[in-house]
Amino acid sequence: MKPPHSNDKYLDVDNPAIRAEALESILQEKGLLTVQAVDNVIARFSERVGPMNGAKLVARAWRDEIFKQQLLNDATKVVHDYQFEGGQVDKLVVVENTSTVHNVVVCTLCSCYPWAVLGLPPKWYKDPEYRSRIVVEPRELLAEMGLLLPVETIIKVWDSSAEIRYMVLPEQPLGVEQLNQDALAELVTRDAMIG
Ligand code: FE
Repeated sequence: MKPPHSNDKYLDVDNPAIRAEALESILQEKGLLTVQAVDNVIARFSERVGPMNGAKLVARAWRDEIFKQQLLNDATKVVHDYQFEGGQVDKLVVVENTSTVHNVVVCTLCSCYPWAVLGLPPKWYKDPEYRSRIVVEPRELLAEMGLLLPVETIIKVWDSSAEIRYMVLPEQPLGVEQLNQDALAELVTRDAMIG
């Protein structure tokens, strides 16, 4: 039997998109699933649950120092007040990137992830290679993934679990002082909030 916290590799066949589509058609033909129900799920995860929620928090923290401190001190409360959909943020900790510290989040055990602020985890987050290597050689792995950090940057790896989940507050890019919070939020990528 699959352990309750195992990853999704068992579902990872050659082309999951095609298999999902075939399954969807069969369920619809048999009257077990409506197009509307599928659309509702897609709308939920693409419009209301997703990294845009985390990006909103980041953009506000970049503009509002008091809010930033609240977020760093007690992100669980801040997120609770926002009432984002999606859950998985019963205990959320936000860690701040600075000019000297780069934070990275992983779930070494499985794929614990704060859905309400980041949506669904990317495929690589659940990859056993990421989960093991990010702990032992974070600098090398991040470089392979396209993020080259200076040797003097301290890398902190945070292990998410069912009890505590983490989100990274990325550094504000240079030259964005004129942008409002909505425009700033557009700049924040999901991956930057994972590490
Ligand atoms: Fe997990």
